[in-house]
Amino acid sequence: MHNLVNGVHRFQKRVFPGQQKLFEKLADGQTPSALFITCADSRINPTALTQTEPGELFILRNAGAMVPPYGAVQGGEAATVEYAISVLKVQDIIVCGHSHCGAVSALLNPAAAEGLSAVKQWLAHAESTRRILAENYAELTDPEQRLNVAIQEHALVQLENLQTHPSVLAALSRDALRLHAWVYRFETGEVFAFHPEKGRFALMGKPAAQKSARKSSGDSAIRKRRHAAVIA
Ligand SMILES: [Zn+2]
Repeated sequence: MHNLVNGVHRFQKRVFPGQQKLFEKLADGQTPSALFITCADSRINPTALTQTEPGELFILRNAGAMVPPYGAVQGGEAATVEYAISVLKVQDIIVCGHSHCGAVSALLNPAAAEGLSAVKQWLAHAESTRRILAENYAELTDPEQRLNVAIQEHALVQLENLQTHPSVLAALSRDALRLHAWVYRFETGEVFAFHPEKGRFALMGKPAAQKSARKSSGDSAIRKRRHAAVIA
């Protein structure tokens, strides 16, 4: 805890003065362009990853970067999504999964969540991911590859869940919103974006069609799916 308090002091002394004007301006309101949905994992730093300043990203974080289908939970996720779209008018929603995600890993290995009743209940909202892996990737036995594919499929499932939210569908139907699925490999700094026309994730910054476009390990089996609203 001591280091956090020291951090606040350093922020106030060294960082804030340089950004004071920005913070004062933000007191009048925020106009973030994107809703960034990611995991609570401490190894993910959305603003560092996207090089954004305060006021630019509306961020929703929870265990596993999940958005339950509309109506499944009376919780903060639906409210955050609705506010981002209907009030803040964000133009993009990014669901950003990440390598070594403990929540997705626990989905594949339920024993890891044994005795954690709240975690188990929460992971029940990711049943689609679990079932996609169980039914469509039976041949994938390597644990690391299996986890990597699960992380990708999990991000795509969240995009599908988002499309059950009325505010999302309404914005999509007037072409005012784009959905994106990313997977961030924090150990390499790489970000893989889903390309719906290719049915797979590809390293950001390189066209998916290019031969040199690298796959994240273990994504060979991402199946084609309909994601008309999704763009890389
Ligand atoms: Zn995670």
